[in-house]
Amino acid sequence: MRVALLSDIHANRHAFEAVLDDVATTDAAETWCLGDIVGYGAEPDVCVELARSATAICLAGNHDLAVTGELSLDEFSRGAEIAARWTRDVMEPSNVDWLRRLRPLDEDRSVGLYHGSPRDPIWEYVLSALLAELCLDAQRHRISVVGHSHVALSFVRREGELATGEPRRDGDVLDLAEGEWLLNPGSVGQPRDGDARAAWMLLDLDARTAEWRRVDYDVGGAQAAIRAARLPDSLADRLGYGQ
Ligand code: ZN
Repeated sequence: MRVALLSDIHANRHAFEAVLDDVATTDAAETWCLGDIVGYGAEPDVCVELARSATAICLAGNHDLAVTGELSLDEFSRGAEIAARWTRDVMEPSNVDWLRRLRPLDEDRSVGLYHGSPRDPIWEYVLSALLAELCLDAQRHRISVVGHSHVALSFVRREGELATGEPRRDGDVLDLAEGEWLLNPGSVGQPRDGDARAAWMLLDLDARTAEWRRVDYDVGGAQAAIRAARLPDSLADRLGYGQ
């Protein structure tokens, strides 16, 4: 089975729709989301409704848990905190209830799924080979998929070697048949790897391959929605840079 792995949508409806359209052009049988459906962006309800209808598996991210009240806002940056408070105020209660039922990890599949990392599913950012090493030690599956950092990348540890990592670009395809892997599809709604296009990953659970994909979307539309909601300008600006 091939599955579409999406993460960090962040209430960016324009990016989410573009990614779902791209997924529909592939033979992905299911869409799995690694969390942070809301936060930062201006269309949380639409994005939750899209996630409810389009995903077979959906995890909770730290921003989702902040909006449901399960996480305190103390550890959030100023912009993230403002956006989380705004999201709490505007969201439909039934959509918040749906977010409240999500968990930040799912270890019941043939690959491990975590919002942050196998060691800390909510908060840990896996961006270095050193940290990846510790996560590979902790993970229950040979292959895990994480989100949270908004950077498309892969870490691998081959037999008898140390872990190494690589950023992943549009069209990269990896053979996962051997070694231990930690993969990040990148972010749908707020990429931070210098490529402003929406990111996702097509994972073949039988052939054990992963393909990273990037999709153009209406960045201006998402920025206009953020400004119209009177959220911080910086949240709109960064979408243009992919940071
Ligand atoms: Zn995020």
